[in-house]
Amino acid sequence: MPKVGRSLGMAVTVAVTAVGATAVTASPAAAYCRSGMTTWNNTSFSKTIGVNTTFPTGMRTGLSGGLTQWNQSGSALSYTTPTYTTGWLIYAFRGSHSYSPLMGSAPGIALTMVSGSTHSGGELILSTQYTWVNASQDINAGIADVQTVAVHEVGHFTGLAHPWPGPCTDGTSYTSAEQQSVMSTINTGTRRFVNSDDIAGVTAIY
Ligand SMILES: [Zn+2]
Repeated sequence: MPKVGRSLGMAVTVAVTAVGATAVTASPAAAYCRSGMTTWNNTSFSKTIGVNTTFPTGMRTGLSGGLTQWNQSGSALSYTTPTYTTGWLIYAFRGSHSYSPLMGSAPGIALTMVSGSTHSGGELILSTQYTWVNASQDINAGIADVQTVAVHEVGHFTGLAHPWPGPCTDGTSYTSAEQQSVMSTINTGTRRFVNSDDIAGVTAIY
């Protein structure tokens, strides 16, 4: 039986940034972290998410945006626009708008089906315990931005971990590049666009 890996983001700092800003360029490009994360198996690097038709229409643009942000990397990995279908269709992974006790108080979670150092599929869940918007989020107030959470959780599927806090930091500071990465913990602000460190991370893997 494959084991289920658990990855979610929680933190305490809130720093809201403007929605609609262009992709952030951070330097130096060295903050991305892969520690403890599995990567996609190599059968195909074009990944499709199958999503139940009950997934709210108003959240779909943000979900698609979070997926396709990772296509800017120039790597072999790409995520297609989700397929909405009655019942579950599992291509690379599936999406859900529900709640799992595994999430605790997190707005999103990425569950992967792990075999060794790779995974072949998984489930992306956005919690129904939050009010979802396509705008600035305030996690402490229970308001989550779809694209911000989606791009972060898909980053975990991609094979990236949190740059801070955790075992991948320089141990001395929360650098600017780490703060601006979409892989920084989810409730540090609204971050819809991969930055240079995220791109460096996915390019290093695929
Ligand atoms: Zn996370």
